[in-house]
Amino acid sequence: MLLTITTDHQPATDLGYLLHKHPERLQSFDLAFGKAHVFYPEADVQRCSACLLLDVDPVGMVRGKNRNQGDLLGHYVNDRSYVASSLLSVAIAQVLGTAMAGRCNQRPELASTPLPFEARLDVLPVRGGERFLHEIFEPLGYEVEAERYLLDPEFPQWGESVYYSVTIRATVTLSDLLTHLYVLIPVFDNEKHYFVGEDELEKLLAKGGAWLAAHPQKEQISRRYLRNRHSLYRQALSRLLEMESPESDEESPRPAAQEETLERTLSLNDQRHGAVLAALKASGARSVLDLGCGEGKLLRDLLNEKQFEQIVGMDVSFRSLEFAQKRLKLDRLPERQAQRLKLLHGSLIYRDRRLEGFDAAALVEVIEHLDSPRLAALERVVFEFAQPKTVVVTTPNQEYNVMWETLPAGQFRHNDHRFEWTQAEFQAWAQQVAGQHGYAVRFLPVGPEDETVGSPTQMGMFTRRL
Ligand code: SAH
Repeated sequence: MLLTITTDHQPATDLGYLLHKHPERLQSFDLAFGKAHVFYPEADVQRCSACLLLDVDPVGMVRGKNRNQGDLLGHYVNDRSYVASSLLSVAIAQVLGTAMAGRCNQRPELASTPLPFEARLDVLPVRGGERFLHEIFEPLGYEVEAERYLLDPEFPQWGESVYYSVTIRATVTLSDLLTHLYVLIPVFDNEKHYFVGEDELEKLLAKGGAWLAAHPQKEQISRRYLRNRHSLYRQALSRLLEMESPESDEESPRPAAQEETLERTLSLNDQRHGAVLAALKASGARSVLDLGCGEGKLLRDLLNEKQFEQIVGMDVSFRSLEFAQKRLKLDRLPERQAQRLKLLHGSLIYRDRRLEGFDAAALVEVIEHLDSPRLAALERVVFEFAQPKTVVVTTPNQEYNVMWETLPAGQFRHNDHRFEWTQAEFQAWAQQVAGQHGYAVRFLPVGPEDETVGSPTQMGMFTRRL
């Protein structure tokens, strides 16, 4: 992979001072994952270009990894050697660190002067498409030019790849240019960061600081940079919000409100209940079942909506129902409110007449707790016997698990889960159940959606055919 930095500032050979690398020499550096070379394909007074070439050792990168785990072929056959990724960021920091820090002992004024620069990346994997590329660089004042590659030029019918050659141009300090590249290159890539560690957040804030706080895409940038490690992401955002200048407060909502909104968008559990609630409301239901209601969070939201005149929560766990009762303060609710809500102790694998005649039912993160024979029983209990007009089912999307670095590969999100399905598996199950029992089903994502792996939760909304 290649990063080329060019200037036509005169004399252009000043670039050599700024980068602390002599234009007439090829210099090579040993890095943990391979070698970096710096050289100048052109260096005269009118125009000067410096290249940082990374020669990644793919076998070296595999060393020390647990070979028994996961995708061994993927360790050897991948794009890491050829694309600009977090490895390039590491190389920028290690090989051009002084320039990135804005230090230039011989010509200090040069380092602090915005100069006309062009940076070209060959090649950058852009997950999120060309528009995302513009949305990320343009707010920082760059002009962006992108050239997309076909998957294989010999077979144009195979379509386009995610790989681009990207050129950005602006008049900036070299330190700003390198810092922007350092933080933003890994944002376009879907792979795990090379430098995964608790200090990532500090690096992001130290290098991103002021410009990131003012960037309209700061949420996306932090989320992708921190690869959905939610606790880090949340901390990063609240610190970035604090950094925002007071002037900007006037146009945007007050910071507390922003934070509340963020909090809401961040708790997956809340998002899930929000999505289910919205689906139930949209169905026009007046009577609803919350099957496997657990400790009653969704029940509380349902109670707050006047539309729902009759609400029933059911669970097999008596202890959870006791919690729900406390949470909802059932014994202290005014008579009319209390009449709207009932808690039932029961199991979804047995036919139960108390569940019949409802407009809608929700099964929020329940099906994955049942093994296959019990799930088959639940299907009949809900879709054949209780037969609500609408059934909303949510379950984890297994494909999304790779986004959580704390979750070891192949492990489920919860000890009690009997399975976690891919999107195709869930959809196949839902289509089959719908077809068998006279329902139509459509699918909706819940939570932050990733282009490749989808959203963390998958939701199916079943509607009974008349
Ligand atoms: N819907 C809640 C709880 C999800 S956890 C929420 O969104 O927070 C799964 C719940 O399903 C647990 O409360 C568990 O007790 C319940 N459950 C598991 N098997 C069940 C069964 N056979 N019948 C009824 N509830 C069951």
